[in-house]
Amino acid sequence: MNTVLHDLTVAQLASLLRARKVSALETAQHFLARAHATAALGAFLDFNEEVTLRQARAADVALAVGSATPLAALLGVPVAHKDIFVTRDFVSTAGSKMLAGYCSPFDATVVANLATQGMVTLGKLNCDEFAMGSSNENSAFGAVTNPWDRSRVPGGSSGGSAAAVAARLVPAATGTDTGGSIRQPASFCGVTGIKPTYGRASRYGMVAFASSLDQAGPLARSAEDCALLLSSMCGPDPDRDSTSLDLPAEDFTRSLSDSLAGLRIGIPKEFFGEGLAPDVRAAIDAALKEYEKLGARLVPISLPRTELSIPVYYIIAPAEASSNLSRFDGVKFGHRAAHYTDLTDMYKKTRAEGFGDEVKRRIMIGTYVLSHGYYDAYYLQAQKIRRMIADDFQQAFKLCDVIAGPVAPTVAWKLGEKNDNPVANYLADIFTLPASLAGLPGMSLPVGLGAARMPVGLQLIGNYLQEARLLNLAHRLQQATDWHLAKPEGF
Ligand code: GLN
Repeated sequence: MNTVLHDLTVAQLASLLRARKVSALETAQHFLARAHATAALGAFLDFNEEVTLRQARAADVALAVGSATPLAALLGVPVAHKDIFVTRDFVSTAGSKMLAGYCSPFDATVVANLATQGMVTLGKLNCDEFAMGSSNENSAFGAVTNPWDRSRVPGGSSGGSAAAVAARLVPAATGTDTGGSIRQPASFCGVTGIKPTYGRASRYGMVAFASSLDQAGPLARSAEDCALLLSSMCGPDPDRDSTSLDLPAEDFTRSLSDSLAGLRIGIPKEFFGEGLAPDVRAAIDAALKEYEKLGARLVPISLPRTELSIPVYYIIAPAEASSNLSRFDGVKFGHRAAHYTDLTDMYKKTRAEGFGDEVKRRIMIGTYVLSHGYYDAYYLQAQKIRRMIADDFQQAFKLCDVIAGPVAPTVAWKLGEKNDNPVANYLADIFTLPASLAGLPGMSLPVGLGAARMPVGLQLIGNYLQEARLLNLAHRLQQATDWHLAKPEGF
C-alpha cells in the first residue's frame, strides 16, 4: 500500500481512509518519511512529529467511531502550510531571519479551519521572505528547487508548497497569493492552485505583506482536490478580519462536472503579445482547443492596462509592506540585535540584520512612495489606475464568462538567473498582477510541458465569487486530458 499512497489525490486518500483501508497514522508516517528523505529539495522548514502523529491518531479514533460525516470530508488527510501562516505547534518564520524560531500563541484561521475538517498537519513550507518574490530564492532559509529540474526555481512565493505537492511529499498544501504567489509556482511545478476572491478566506494569522491584496488558497494535484480544500478554508471571520466577506462557507465541489456548452472564454489580446514564449503559447493554445471541443467558445477581449499592472502593483504592494513590516522592531516580535547604544540604534541594527535585501528594497520603495511630496505623484496615481484595471475586467466580463491566458511568460527559469535584476523578476508577474489588483479569483492548472520539458500552467480568471465556475472549468479539462497526471522523474 505504502508505495502508492503518495500518488493518491486528496479525494482518493480521503475515501480510502474512510473505508479504513489505510490508517491516518500510517499515512502520516509515510508522508513524513518521504519529506525527510527528500529534504534536499528545501521545501520544508519545520516538522513536529509528535504533533503530527497525535493529530493522525485522533483522526483514526474519529474514523473508527464513524464520525466521518460529509462535513469532516478531509479527515486524516495530510496537509502542509506555507510558513506565512502562523501555527501554534510549529515554528512560524515567514521565510525571514526576523522571525527565526518564532512560536505563535495561536493558529491562523485557515490552519484552524482545515484542522477542524480533520486534516493532519505535516509541517511548514518554505517561501520567499514575507512572501516577496517569484522564485523562492528570497527565503532566509535557502532556496527551494524545482522537482522537475533541480537546477531551476519552483516559482514563488509559495515555492515550498508547489514543490512539495509536485514531489508528492504531501497531497495538498496551503499558499498565499498577493500578486501571483499561488498561481505562478503552481504553473512552474505542474500542480493546480487557486486564489479565491479577495475576502473569501480570512487573513487572520497570515503574516501581512500587502493587506489589500493578500489572499490564501490551496495547491494540490487536481481541481477537485483544490475545491475540497478551498471549501474548508473559506468563510466569514468578522471578529478577526474586517475584510473577510460576510458570506457563508460554500461547497466549491458542487458544480465541478457542469457542462461547458456555450460558455464564453475571454482571450485577452494583451496576454498573447511579444513577451510570451512560443513554447508556453503552444501549450496554452492546445488547452484552449480542448475547451472548444468541450463546447466552450473563445471570445477576443482586451485588458488594456495589463502592462500598467506592474508599476501599479510595485507601488501599492511595497507601500502596504512598509507599513505592515514596521512591527518588526526588535521589541514586539522576533529578532533583536545583540549590541546597540540606544533605542534608535537598536531599531536600525535589528532591522538591518533581520531583513533580507528584497524586503529592505520594498520597505524603502514603499516609504518613498508614501512620503510627503511623492504620495500624490505615485501612491495616489497607482490607486486610481488600480481602479481602472478593475473596471477593465468588468467591461470584459460583459463579453465573456471567464478569462483564460498564460500564468507566466516563460517556464521556470534557472536558479540565480534573475538574482542581480529585481526588475526582471517583477516583469515576469505581468499576467498574474491584474487579477490580484482587481481582487478577482484566479487559478492555474497544468496544461503541458514547454521548453526543457518544464510544466506550463493555464490561468483562469473569474468574476467576483466565481470560484466554483473556475474549478468547474479546470475539472472538466482534467477529466478530458491527463496533463495534471504528469509527474517529475524520480518522485
Ligand atoms: N511576485 C510577486 C511579488 O514579489 C507576488 C508575490 C506574492 O504573490 N506573494 O510581490
